[in-house]
Amino acid sequence: MYVFHRADAMRRYLAACRSSLGFVPTMGALHEGHLQLVRHALRECELVVCSIFVNPTQFNDPDDLCKYPRTPDQDIAMLAKTGCHLAFMPAVEEVYPPGWQMPVALQLSPLDQVMEGKFRPGHFKGVAEVVYRLLELVEPQRLYMGQKDFQQTVIVQAMLQQTNLPVALRVADTVREDDGLAMSSRNRRLSPEQRQVAPYLYRALLEARRLYPELAVDEIQARAMALMQSAGLRPEYFDIVDGHTLQPVANGAKYDYVVACAAAWAGEVRLIDNVTLRC
Ligand code: AMP
Repeated sequence: MYVFHRADAMRRYLAACRSSLGFVPTMGALHEGHLQLVRHALRECELVVCSIFVNPTQFNDPDDLCKYPRTPDQDIAMLAKTGCHLAFMPAVEEVYPPGWQMPVALQLSPLDQVMEGKFRPGHFKGVAEVVYRLLELVEPQRLYMGQKDFQQTVIVQAMLQQTNLPVALRVADTVREDDGLAMSSRNRRLSPEQRQVAPYLYRALLEARRLYPELAVDEIQARAMALMQSAGLRPEYFDIVDGHTLQPVANGAKYDYVVACAAAWAGEVRLIDNVTLRC
């Protein structure tokens, strides 16, 4: 495996094998969820690039940025073992050189006004811009992201359409621990007690899947919030949304794609997850 820290050196190498290039952007502290994306890309592409970049512009909470786990040596070893061809680990100045700006003003509303966007102002502007910038540097044909961050995939798809980038987005299923907790880099910050209650986020989502659409949406939400609270989580939201528009579903209306999305705190660690209720 090659490791590059400079975009110009990486770009010279990539020019040679550009015709079938898959790209997996991550913030590192890698786990099986990330590696599944790499494997997915390896099945479909000649060359697979994984970036590890903790993007400061998508953190609305400076404390969260500061505490975000960083395990670069372990990450490189995991990527090499998985067969990833290239790790791109740029510095902030390389991703955001002075004067760099988006070529088009993105219109993310109303997709970024709900759920994560409501609780993390500016987060999705940072995500859409960093993904655009990394795509500009790597120039892949395919981009691999996880269903775990469902709202993010919808927003990145909107960004791809608005910027006319010729990149196909592939979304891979959420990888979970045996007890259902979605794998996340932040999970390593959970205390043993918090780790015990963390799976209740997923249990609440499964309960919604069991109850939808027989029960009214607000009743399902109330039950899910209560389930998380009684387990010891501090839920932020539990929304049942149209998977295309991310807007809340109305009782009795017909939808072809419905997703339940939730965020909750286990101590100082913020967890998010989602399950598809209908597709
Ligand atoms: P992150 O490093 O958290 O920014 O995640 C990088 C990519 O990995 C994103 O596309 C995430 O959606 C994806 N990802 C993170 N956790 C999981 C998981 N448990 N299952 C599948 N994909 C994941």
